[in-house]
Amino acid sequence: MNEKNPYQILFEEIRLGPVVAPNRFYQVPHCTGMGYGSPNTLAAMREMKAEGGWGVVCTEYCSIHPTSDDSPLPHASLWDKGDIRAQALMVDKVHRHGSLAGVQLWHGGSTSSNLYSREVPIGPSSRPAEGDDPVQSRAMDKRDIRQLRDWHIAAARRAVEADFDLVYVYATHGYMLSHFLSPANRRSDEYGGSLENRVRLVREILEDTKQAVGDRCAIALRLACDSGMVDAEPESAEEREIISLLGELPDLWDINIRDYSYEMGSSRFVREAALEDYVSYVKKMTGKPVVGVGRFTSPDTMLRQIRDGVLDLIGCARPSIADPFLPKKIREGRLDDIRECIGCNICYGNNSRSIPLACTQNPTMGEEWRRGWHPESIPPRASDRKILIVGGGPAGLEAARALGERGHEVALAEKASELGGRVRGESRLPGLAEWARVRDWRIGQIAKLDHVMVYLESEVDEEQVREFAPDAVVVATGARWRRDGIGRYHEEAIEGWQSASILTPDDLMAGIECEGPALVYDDDRYYMGGLLAEKLARAGIPVTLVTPSALVSPWTQNTDEQARIHRRLLDVGVQIETNTVLEVLAGERATVACAFSGRERFIEAPTIVMVTSRQPQDALYHRLADSFETTRIGDCLAPGTIAASIHSGHRFAREMDADESEEVAFRRERPTLEG
Ligand code: ADP
Ligand code: SF4
Repeated sequence: MNEKNPYQILFEEIRLGPVVAPNRFYQVPHCTGMGYGSPNTLAAMREMKAEGGWGVVCTEYCSIHPTSDDSPLPHASLWDKGDIRAQALMVDKVHRHGSLAGVQLWHGGSTSSNLYSREVPIGPSSRPAEGDDPVQSRAMDKRDIRQLRDWHIAAARRAVEADFDLVYVYATHGYMLSHFLSPANRRSDEYGGSLENRVRLVREILEDTKQAVGDRCAIALRLACDSGMVDAEPESAEEREIISLLGELPDLWDINIRDYSYEMGSSRFVREAALEDYVSYVKKMTGKPVVGVGRFTSPDTMLRQIRDGVLDLIGCARPSIADPFLPKKIREGRLDDIRECIGCNICYGNNSRSIPLACTQNPTMGEEWRRGWHPESIPPRASDRKILIVGGGPAGLEAARALGERGHEVALAEKASELGGRVRGESRLPGLAEWARVRDWRIGQIAKLDHVMVYLESEVDEEQVREFAPDAVVVATGARWRRDGIGRYHEEAIEGWQSASILTPDDLMAGIECEGPALVYDDDRYYMGGLLAEKLARAGIPVTLVTPSALVSPWTQNTDEQARIHRRLLDVGVQIETNTVLEVLAGERATVACAFSGRERFIEAPTIVMVTSRQPQDALYHRLADSFETTRIGDCLAPGTIAASIHSGHRFAREMDADESEEVAFRRERPTLEG
């Protein structure tokens, strides 16, 4: 590395007990939605992080025994020899790049419903499982506690067999060991009641694990260092005590906070390095290295955290998903090339839906094995075709960038005076500023490609395409929000919509003034309805948010934002009407009805903000399709998330001129057939 690299300190080796991390970049354990059923997918994804320079690459939560089963959420496991082989595949690939591999051994305790294994959940006391499953655990007796320790020891030994370098004792995130540590653990034996008693099991498991792994692996303890929701001014007196009791026992402290919606909060609610105030005391209490997270994408922030003695290792989950090559880029001084996470939590959303990770910024995430995609390389072009891309939103920008990387001559025409499409407007909505990174990173990359030309204020019609005479046209003209109310609930336009004063999200983002009071009708059910209600209320407009759903912005449960959104709307004074359908519009009067009983009432609202569904802007595509080789991508093909548009643009660029003889475009993991 260049001796003058100002970030050199980030590339220092760090001793973790018996092993040495090659640098301070640490991919903390994170969910993947892949789990033990997808060993190839996982191994290839984790390898990419190691190749990209992460000094330590960890698994997701890895179950030690069938009594810890989080199905239908996918998780890793180390139950038996088959699991050892699967984990070894990942470890081997990580080692190839000189990185350390860590495993987060996990027991879910009363939190896991064990729906797949059908084992009765166990915990320090009998309590209901997380979520709404009608499942309750049984209280562990002393024999169960001994057995739990044995399972942990056996799993740690399997981890050694799989050649891991780092083994976790996982005592946070509301699983088994958190329940033992909790003040709510009022067991009458030596494992409950006093703090010393509640810490006992963690201490024993730390010592057991040390015995099991000897000098082969480092031991990390993952712990929350505060005691409540951040919004309620958490205390940390007891956690300080726990850390002082266990201070030098682990080889590494992996520190987080209790409020998961803040620890991995979206950028709408939580800024980079936001955990600093909560975690910075830990390093003063132990001589052992400390790793923590904070959606770090700025090398300067990372540097400051190390220099100020907040952390020893820069822990990242999302930044390593958005850019598996982040460390390498810092090392090579290519800071402009860092593809910064935007904090949208789509990645987590996929895990919540039990499907493999995807990422808004990194379309290759989850595609490393099944499609063979690499985030930093793309095959060179297979033809000399000149390509015209119409529309400079996420899909058009990504297609232009990726085709340009392949060496194609590309013209990108955008009718507006700025690139970005939907991101242009959405990144100006409250809290979404970081979403502009989707556009800005691509603009920066395209600027480095001489053979990609960008034309702004260039609305393209059929005539211009004829004049330009491209070999292929890509239509990425996006979608517009509907005005008529058709969406999930209404298959037909809402009665009277033409008589009402209706604004769409496009209108509001274009700066059209809204006359209050406003009724925001959200049948889209992701972030837009709630966000516009917030924006209008902040501007002093009385707002009623009406939604047929039982929750405000329900899909954001997947991104762990829903509770924060609801609270925010209450804070800014939005009137919330859930389970309510917008039935008829008559001038300034809206008839709404209970979604269950049909009971009607009226709401006076001069303005209706209609957030229901979008209409693809595909007229140009249909006009061109017969005369040119034309493809539509992104929202023009089918309105979706920004992540879907980026993926669509990227996929087009990868697959152009590809051999299409394969029946399915991607490989699937297959269980081994018996016999
Ligand atoms: P996507 O997410 O699929 O990229 P967006 O709606 O974000 O879709 O972006 C579409 C972009 O296409 C917008 O910036 C819009 O201004 C642009 N656009 C739409 N029609 C034309 C056209 N005929 N010529 C050039 N640009 C267009
Ligand atoms: Fe970041 Fe969004 Fe990618 Fe997750 S999906 S890593 S939050 S950009």
